[in-house]
Amino acid sequence: MNVETYRTALLQKRGELLGGSTAKPLQWTIESNSGRQGDMADQASGNNEVHIQLKLKQTDAKILQAIEEALRRIEQGTYGVCRDCGEPIAEARLNAIPWTRVCITCKEKQNA
Ligand SMILES: [Zn+2]
Repeated sequence: MNVETYRTALLQKRGELLGGSTAKPLQWTIESNSGRQGDMADQASGNNEVHIQLKLKQTDAKILQAIEEALRRIEQGTYGVCRDCGEPIAEARLNAIPWTRVCITCKEKQNA
């Protein structure tokens, strides 16, 4: 396994997430909505849109955090090891999700 390949992929993904950020206009929308609760019903469709965008943002933030952790594990030489069971994570899985923390077996256990 070539860790540098994963480091490059992680840095690239991090750049994508940080570069494509629309956080500021989104925060404005939320703030202006929270100040006028009276006509929430009228704004239902608008709020849904904000909700969806917010969800995406939370996902991005989670991935960003996972990327930071993965980069730290590369520094520490523990990259590609499952956080839960300590077994090596399959390369195919790392190729698909370079910032993953757990192997597929543990991931399935989490979902079960
Ligand atoms: Zn595991």
